[in-house]
Amino acid sequence: MTDHPQRMPALFIGHGSPMNTLERNRWTDGWRALGETLPRPRALLVVSAHWHIGATAVTAMANPRTIHDFRGFPPELFAFQYDAPGAPDVAREVAEIARPVPVALDEGQWGLDHGTWSVLAHLFPEADVPVVQLSIDATKPGSHHLDLGARLAPLREQGVMILGSGNVVHNLALIDWRAGDSGAAWADRFDTDVSALMRERPGDILEAGAHPDFAAAVPTPDHFLPLLTIAGLAAESGEQVRTLFEGRTMGSLSMTSHALGLNG
Ligand code: ZN
Repeated sequence: MTDHPQRMPALFIGHGSPMNTLERNRWTDGWRALGETLPRPRALLVVSAHWHIGATAVTAMANPRTIHDFRGFPPELFAFQYDAPGAPDVAREVAEIARPVPVALDEGQWGLDHGTWSVLAHLFPEADVPVVQLSIDATKPGSHHLDLGARLAPLREQGVMILGSGNVVHNLALIDWRAGDSGAAWADRFDTDVSALMRERPGDILEAGAHPDFAAAVPTPDHFLPLLTIAGLAAESGEQVRTLFEGRTMGSLSMTSHALGLNG
């Protein structure tokens, strides 16, 4: 590891539909504008909702492929490529720092999924910053993910920007196609209360599990868990969390993002 002069930000981004990759809208314009203010990291470490498996693994290949891990979207989306290089050195650093959690070095199975590239297409449109993905171990409780997030903190001092990509509210069964950029009352309530927790007491984020709207907002844990990585980092560093792009879309998706360590 080499010293890097600047502590890198850590971000949770509400990624929403894969079509955000190609669209210009309120959310993607926000990501573009944010990207223009970000420092240039040595690498990006991304925890994507879409790599929710039975183990902790990191992509360790030099050239991760672009994975189109969805169905029913237009051919333009299947043609999209995000050709960022990997960072095998950073992958090994992640495995080292996560101890005693065993981290598998993935040399050829996964790559970059749309949780990662739908957002990076806007934050880093040149695809010239190396990217490593870290899987979410679906067999572990929330406390594990919070602790693992905290353990990643030293990477921020080594030029690595950490990104969680999910959605605080993500209920595809309750999508309302007529809702536009608005949420159902329960979605608004849950998202707003989680934002307050993130800003005020990120170390207590697991309290969200007792929220009356938790079951509707988080019917499966995959999109919520990347938030715990960033909450763990926030609790560890004591820096103030900033809420960005607060809002809901299609009734049952939150697009709200949270940031740590942004300048200005
Ligand atoms: Zn998703």
